[in-house]
Amino acid sequence: VTDFHTAVIGAGSAGLTVAVGLAGFGKKVALIEKKHIGGDCTNVGCVPSKTLIHLASHMVEYNGAENKFSSAEILAKVRERRDHLREEETTWIKGVKNITVFEGEATFVNSTTLSLKLSASEQTITAQHIVIASGSSPIVVDVPGLPPGRILTNESLFDVTQPPNHLVILGGGIIGCEMAFAFRKLGSEVTIVQRAPRLLDRLEPEVSDLIQTRCQEVGMNVSLNATAHSFEASTKALRLEQQGKSVTVPNVENVLMAVGRKPNLEFGLEKAGVSFNEKGVPTTQSHKSNVPTIYAIGDVSLTSAFTHTANAQGRRVVQKIALPFLPQGKEAVYPSAVFTDPEVAYVGEPLEKLKKRYHPELIRTLRFELKKTDRGYTQGLEHGFILIHALRLTGRILSATIVAPNASEMISLLTLAVNKRISLYQLANIVFPYPVLSEAIKKLSDQFVFATLPKLPQELLSYLRLRWTRG
Ligand SMILES: Cc1cc2nc3c(=O)[nH]c(=O)nc-3n(C[C@H](O)[C@H](O)[C@H](O)COP(=O)(O)OP(=O)(O)OC[C@H]3O[C@@H](n4cnc5c(N)ncnc54)[C@H](O)[C@@H]3O)c2cc1C
Repeated sequence: VTDFHTAVIGAGSAGLTVAVGLAGFGKKVALIEKKHIGGDCTNVGCVPSKTLIHLASHMVEYNGAENKFSSAEILAKVRERRDHLREEETTWIKGVKNITVFEGEATFVNSTTLSLKLSASEQTITAQHIVIASGSSPIVVDVPGLPPGRILTNESLFDVTQPPNHLVILGGGIIGCEMAFAFRKLGSEVTIVQRAPRLLDRLEPEVSDLIQTRCQEVGMNVSLNATAHSFEASTKALRLEQQGKSVTVPNVENVLMAVGRKPNLEFGLEKAGVSFNEKGVPTTQSHKSNVPTIYAIGDVSLTSAFTHTANAQGRRVVQKIALPFLPQGKEAVYPSAVFTDPEVAYVGEPLEKLKKRYHPELIRTLRFELKKTDRGYTQGLEHGFILIHALRLTGRILSATIVAPNASEMISLLTLAVNKRISLYQLANIVFPYPVLSEAIKKLSDQFVFATLPKLPQELLSYLRLRWTRG
């Protein structure tokens, strides 16, 4: 007999989903959180960053025009909204039937027992199932000479009260690029230092090109193929190493670390016999670790790095534990969004990766510029496109990328198409309200249909020849 049916380590997106889901099935749940309810998303991730992006976009024009609020007021409002949500979530979760919230740090004693370090006491609890949802932390790289007071991470960024005069962002991935646009709008000089040859290098190259262009248009500095070498405190100069050359970035006030995340694993996993590596806890499709009663989901797993994917995995664990005999398919293909200006949203793999699974000639790539849609014209849109990779002949969509002002809202139709195998033939028949940017999906689908149907016999032969041949 255990104290709890399930114990959940971490009350972020992943942990909250499991705790609330299982409690809804009448299971007795212990939810343990050592910092703040809501985890990174509510406190130092999605919520403050998206609030900042929204307020900065609506209150400030790049480098100029009259502002409704000062940058300092915007930063204060970000904290206000974040704190309000944190308090709301904390009050709510403490009132959920069947959940006991422990505010403290959990450590494994063995595979069914946790030791809890609470503010004024220690306690041991046992549980039939344990879900590790401990999240991740920012990686901080060593830059010789850089004083700790000049270093920012996502954990301290939203506590700054004034935008830095000159913010250097190490890392040109999602977090780095999003914060670059936001702080530029607040009036900071922004320099992105990216080790890879392009920004957002895990996405399609077309996206990197467009975002690079936008960075230049709004007056940011971007150093590609570059790493931070050292900092000279007296002159506030950051020295970069860029393809064998030394480059100096002057007058640097703060350096934001956005080079990647590391899983939070320091709570005695070895005592429970749970295997892990530097990337996190490997799991099965049902999110079980090598110990079948211990699960790992969200950022601490190897397969999730977003709030919506943490939530999706949490829901799968709830189903697995509460309804173990219900069949559970593979994980869906999850979409993701990057809240730059314009936004980027994608689902499925970029072309480079697809070519490793399919013969390159089997993949049809279609691109439509949004300014060629009527809505793009009426909006005077300059940048933006939809890119789809589909199988020739069948029109099955393998992956899609949208760059548009509201790409994050437009990607769901294509996510559905990828997961439910809705083909380009079917998308060509969808009627969109007029005028919308999503009409580009129909135009793309038409392109495919008109390129395929008139040559059907050749397409069929090519498809059969290439289908089982890898690239
Ligand atoms: C700046 C930034 C912006 C982001 N923006 C987005 C976005 O727009 N959209 C999106 O989908 N994702 C975004 N993300 C990613 C998203 O925040 C994470 O993927 C998500 O929060 C992961 O959820 P999680 O539950 O796995 O972990 P977390 O939210 O990190 O929660 C883990 C919790 O576990 C607690 N914990 C750890 N160890 C212990 C222990 N031993 N005992 C008790 N408690 C413990 C931690 O304190 C933490 O609260 C962003 C991330 C950052 C940094």
